[in-house]
Amino acid sequence: MPQSRYFTALPEATLQCLLCPRGCLIPEGGRGRCGVRGNREGAGELPYYGAITALQVDPIEKKPLYHYHPGSSILSVGFLGCNLHCPFCQNWHISQLPSKGGPSIPSRLYAPQAIVHAAQAEGSGQIAYTYSEPLVHLEFLLDCMTCAREAGLANILVSNGCINPEAAQAILSLTDAANIDLKCFSQATYTRILGGDLATVLAFITQAWKTGVHLEVTTLVVPELNDQEAEIDRCIDFLASLSPDIPWHLCAYHPAYTWKIRPTDPEHLVALAYRARKTLSYVYTGNISSPLQDTVCPHCGHLLIRRRGYRIDTRGLSLETMQNTCHCRHCGTALPIFSGPLSI
Ligand code: SF4
Ligand code: SF4
Repeated sequence: MPQSRYFTALPEATLQCLLCPRGCLIPEGGRGRCGVRGNREGAGELPYYGAITALQVDPIEKKPLYHYHPGSSILSVGFLGCNLHCPFCQNWHISQLPSKGGPSIPSRLYAPQAIVHAAQAEGSGQIAYTYSEPLVHLEFLLDCMTCAREAGLANILVSNGCINPEAAQAILSLTDAANIDLKCFSQATYTRILGGDLATVLAFITQAWKTGVHLEVTTLVVPELNDQEAEIDRCIDFLASLSPDIPWHLCAYHPAYTWKIRPTDPEHLVALAYRARKTLSYVYTGNISSPLQDTVCPHCGHLLIRRRGYRIDTRGLSLETMQNTCHCRHCGTALPIFSGPLSI
């Protein structure tokens, strides 16, 4: 079992997990709130180190990442457990059941090198850590990402971003691109409904941006939770304070897990996206059919990337191969879109 420095010993064989703001106090034989980090005889236990629930090739747009190697494929790696408890979680059967000690879908053990070999065998130059919450498996992620970097592969993190600063720095130093959830802009909602911490997520997004990670952000728009214009405006202001060029995915919610409220109204979602586009250059809708899935040049309005499902047409881009960056084929404006060859 790998050692972890993200636990600290307290009296009477209790451990505190230092990974996320929950700071779980874990008694001997117990588990933290995420269900995947434990205490065995006073030492940190990682019973799910390398336990993988899904290993499959996806379009990178499914993460969603729209400005990072558009049209490419990526090996996606799924885990068990999550430190948040969103009542509308679409992946609740893998994210929530471990913390309740209940049955979960089968997992298979992989060594970090085996994940890299699987990516290479699939012809994928990039690996996504995704589905439930990868960060609660930080020790495995650090080992796997290090192997991937050594093999010349890119690391993609898809996360709720709710992790303490020291661990955040460790993971971001190995991350090439990330899609991070900004679930709402209310500390009360994060604390009372989701089990997270808004300030920690904002700090993680900021840290990712300042570290130079390619960053995209996702918000699931849930009626009566975060779909008010005032709250959306606070998200817009925050993202714009980092950069108006950060792609923002506004996705429609559908009832799942214990949350039974009506689905997001597509017209309202589109209206919110148009509202955000007045400030942010790249705002997309997700989980609905709408014209706001394409990328247009913010300078001349030329169609850069056309998306119909996972059919991606990038003929509006020209590639500066020396730097792997793209320009508008019509007006030549440099774009924050990264493409070019991936090593395999
Ligand atoms: S990562 Fe898990 S065990 Fe650690 S503090 Fe967060 S919820 Fe608790
Ligand atoms: S953070 Fe993601 S995986 Fe975790 S409970 Fe919320 S929606 Fe599910």
